[in-house]
Amino acid sequence: MVGEPGSGSTTREGTVYLVGAGPGDPGLLTRRGADLLAIADVVVYDHLASPRLLDLARTGAIRICAGKSVGHCTLSQDRIHEVLIEHARSGRAVVRLKGGDPLVFGRGGEEASALRAAGIPFEIVPGVTAAVGVAAYCGIPPTHRETASAVAFVTGHGDPRSESSRLDWPALARFPGTLIVYMGVTHLAAICETLITEGKPAGTPAAIVESGTLPAQRTTVGTLANLPRLAVESGLRPPALLIVGEVVALRDRLAWFERLPLFGRRIVVTRPEAELARSAASLEAMGAEVIAAPTVVVRPIPDPGPLDDTIGRLESFDWLVFTSPSGVRFFVDRLDRLGRDLRALGRVRLAAIGPTTADALAALHLRADLVPDSFRSEALAAALAGRAAGARILLARADRGRTVLRDELEHLADVTQVPVYQNAYAEALPDGLDDRIASGSVDWITLTSSAIARRLHALLSERARQAVGTRVRLASLSPVTSETARALGWEVAVEAREFTWDGLVRSLVEQATAERGE
Ligand code: SAH
Repeated sequence: MVGEPGSGSTTREGTVYLVGAGPGDPGLLTRRGADLLAIADVVVYDHLASPRLLDLARTGAIRICAGKSVGHCTLSQDRIHEVLIEHARSGRAVVRLKGGDPLVFGRGGEEASALRAAGIPFEIVPGVTAAVGVAAYCGIPPTHRETASAVAFVTGHGDPRSESSRLDWPALARFPGTLIVYMGVTHLAAICETLITEGKPAGTPAAIVESGTLPAQRTTVGTLANLPRLAVESGLRPPALLIVGEVVALRDRLAWFERLPLFGRRIVVTRPEAELARSAASLEAMGAEVIAAPTVVVRPIPDPGPLDDTIGRLESFDWLVFTSPSGVRFFVDRLDRLGRDLRALGRVRLAAIGPTTADALAALHLRADLVPDSFRSEALAAALAGRAAGARILLARADRGRTVLRDELEHLADVTQVPVYQNAYAEALPDGLDDRIASGSVDWITLTSSAIARRLHALLSERARQAVGTRVRLASLSPVTSETARALGWEVAVEAREFTWDGLVRSLVEQATAERGE
C-alpha cells in the first residue's frame, strides 16, 4: 500500500502501526515511520525509542510511555495490548513506537497477534535493528567477505548455564560466522565462558558496544577470554550489544562515528527557537550531543500595521536590508498574508547581514545584492555606506536589538526601520538543565548574542551561574557577545573567528582537535 499520510488519515482511524524507531540516533527512523508519527493521535513508546522522535508527533497527540526498562514507567505486556486496543477502538490512529525493529526481540509479534485477535487492523513498519545500526556506527561489519559469511542474532537474556536456557550453546559455539548478542549485559561473563567451554577459541575477538548510535556510544574491544573483565573495569551499562567474531578486528580501520571531532561533547545550544534545529544539526554532524535550550522564541509582531504600510510602498525604497533569517521568513509570510507575492519586491536591492540570512533569501530564489564579509552590523553598515549613499533604505528587523545599523547609516541615507517579528524571551530552561549545568555534566554552552547571554544568566540558578565559564565552558559567536559574557562574570573559552554559527562550530572543532593532540 502506498500511503499518503496526512491526506488519508480518516481511512486510518482505529489502526495500530507498529513502528521501528531504530537503535537510538533519531535520524535512523524510516520515512514511513516519520510520516505516521506526524498523523498519529496516540503514540505509545518504549524507553529505548529516542525521545527526540516524539517531537515529530503533533502537539495534541497523546503520548504514553510503555517503559521496558527498570526504573522507568513500565506497563505490563498485557496492559500494553489493552492500551493499544482501547485507543484503536475509540477510532484513533495509534503509533506503537518500538526500539530498533518491532519484530527483532521486540515482542512486536505478540502485539500484532493480540491486535489480530481483537480484530484491530495493524501495519508493521520495520526499523534499523540494534545489531545493524550499532555495527555501522562502531565500524564492525556483521558479515565480511572471507571473514564472516553468516551472522546470528542471539538473545542473552537468560543465563546460558541454566537448564531452561532455550539456546543451543554448543551450536552457537560452532556457528561459522558473527554472533551478535542482544540483552547480554547481565550474563556477559557466563555467555563468554560458555562459548569457550563449548569450544570457541578463547582468543576470538569480541566487543561490547554501549548506547550505540548515540553520542554516549562506547566500545570496549577484547577477546572472549578478557572482555568480561574489561567490561567490569569500564563500568558497563545497558543498553549494550556483544559482538563476537573475527570481524571485530576490522574496527581499527572502519570506526568513524567515535572519531568525529566533537564526539562525546555535550553542548547546550541557547539559540533562538527558529534557528535551533539547523544549528543543532551542524553540531550533531560533528558528533556532538546537543541539548536544546532556546532562550528566545520568535513570534509575529502584535501590530503588523506599520509593516503592512511599508509593504504597500516597497517600490519607494532602493534597498531592503535583512538582519536575520527570521526577518526574511516573517517578511515573506506577511506578503503572503496580504495577498501579495515576491513580485512586490520589484527592483529593490537586497542586503543580508550574513551568509545564513543570504541562505534564507536563496531558499526563496532571491539573490542578495550585498553580503558583508564579516557578520556584524558594523560591517553591513560600512558596506552599505559605500554603495547606498543617499539611497532610501528599509531595515526589516526584530522589534528590538542593536540600533547600530540605523545609527551609522542615518547621516548618509534615508533610513526607515520596520519591525517584522518579535523576539520574546523564553520563560524557563528545559527541565533538569539547570542541575546538569550546575553539576558540570554538560561540556559547552554556546552564546550567539548579548541578549541571549543576558537571558541565560537570568534563567540560571546561582549555582548554575557559577558553573558557567568554569566547569562548563562558553563558546561565543563574536567579541561583542564575549564582552557581555565577561560583564556577567563569565569567562569565555572559545570565540568564533568568523562571526557566524558555522564559524563558531569550526572554532569548537579546532579546539576539540587541539585538545586531542591531533
Ligand atoms: N527490538 C530491538 C531490540 C530490543 S531488545 C531492536 O531491534 O534493536 C533490547 C536490546 O537491544 C538491548 O538489551 C541491547 O542489547 C540492544 N540495544 C538496543 N539499543 C541499543 C543501543 N543503542 N546500543 C546497544 N545495544 C542496543
